[in-house]
Amino acid sequence: MILHQIEDLVDRARHHEARAIARLISLVEDGAPELRAVLRLFAPTTGHAHIVGITGAPGVGKSTTTSALITEYRKRGLRVAVLAVDPSSPFSGGAVLGDRIRMQEHALDPDVFIRSMASRGQLGGLSAAAPQGARVLDATGFDLVLIETVGVGQSEVEIAGHADTTVVLLAPGMGDGVQAAKAGLLEIGDLYVINKADRDGAKSTARDLRNSLAMSEPSDGREREIILASADRGEGVVKIAEAIDAHLVWLTASGNLAKRRARRITMEIEHLAIAALRSKMIAHVEDLTALTEAVVAGKIDTYEAADELLEIFGRIKP
Ligand code: GDP
Repeated sequence: MILHQIEDLVDRARHHEARAIARLISLVEDGAPELRAVLRLFAPTTGHAHIVGITGAPGVGKSTTTSALITEYRKRGLRVAVLAVDPSSPFSGGAVLGDRIRMQEHALDPDVFIRSMASRGQLGGLSAAAPQGARVLDATGFDLVLIETVGVGQSEVEIAGHADTTVVLLAPGMGDGVQAAKAGLLEIGDLYVINKADRDGAKSTARDLRNSLAMSEPSDGREREIILASADRGEGVVKIAEAIDAHLVWLTASGNLAKRRARRITMEIEHLAIAALRSKMIAHVEDLTALTEAVVAGKIDTYEAADELLEIFGRIKP
């Protein structure tokens, strides 16, 4: 794509054209060369959206809760975007959400955008793609960007690094305090939702979680709220939305919003720089081979070889 086509695409996305926004997210997924120009064009217009991560074990009710939150925020007139990220299946592309029935009620709403995102060939994987995707959605005028984890494992915890506010979901019988601690979920939540509160054991799960949370001091000193909800019947959803909003107010007033956002940018730069280094290593393997031979021949040591490699890479344009 040439520059004026990119500008045209960005312009259409800014005018809320869903297809243009979807195309931009695909550029992010692919780590496409156009991405630099896109992010540059967007740079002065980001920072408006509240980025909210929704995480928890599979089956706990994340997509049901996300859908219920969309309904709630649409009632208030906010534009809402959802990025469902699945690092465990890098080739899933944009089709995953097609069968996510619960979100289909929002499919025709022009002020709702729902997309799953993988990282096809993106340098730095989802660690780079998720914040870039969120930035595109922020710049195209969404008020709320929900980042939902779809996969299992590391992504559940990783998501917290990409969000202003992290909502951790648990459900009775499938994620008590001890399990949450093991999964690393106690460190990352800004607020906790015990979903499926219609089921037995919700209160004891909440009690258990409260005890576990009491044992670890929140790093930012803010008390972490626990909300009981039944997302599939819409119960507790208003409370979740209010707690999300209250957290943003606190973040802003305490200066933590700016801190969190700066930390995210640092992380993104690190990921991009390391990924760029790695790809140069692959593209210019002959330099590494030559330096290896020099070390084997006793001409230089490995430290000198590493220094020289960095110097060579520094001269190569990205
Ligand atoms: P995810 O894998 O975390 O996204 O979970 P889903 O949102 O797909 O929900 C998993 C299952 O739990 C689905 O069958 C939902 O209908 C069901 N579910 C979601 N919320 C509730 C709830 O509040 N109560 C009950 N009983 N079931 C729920």
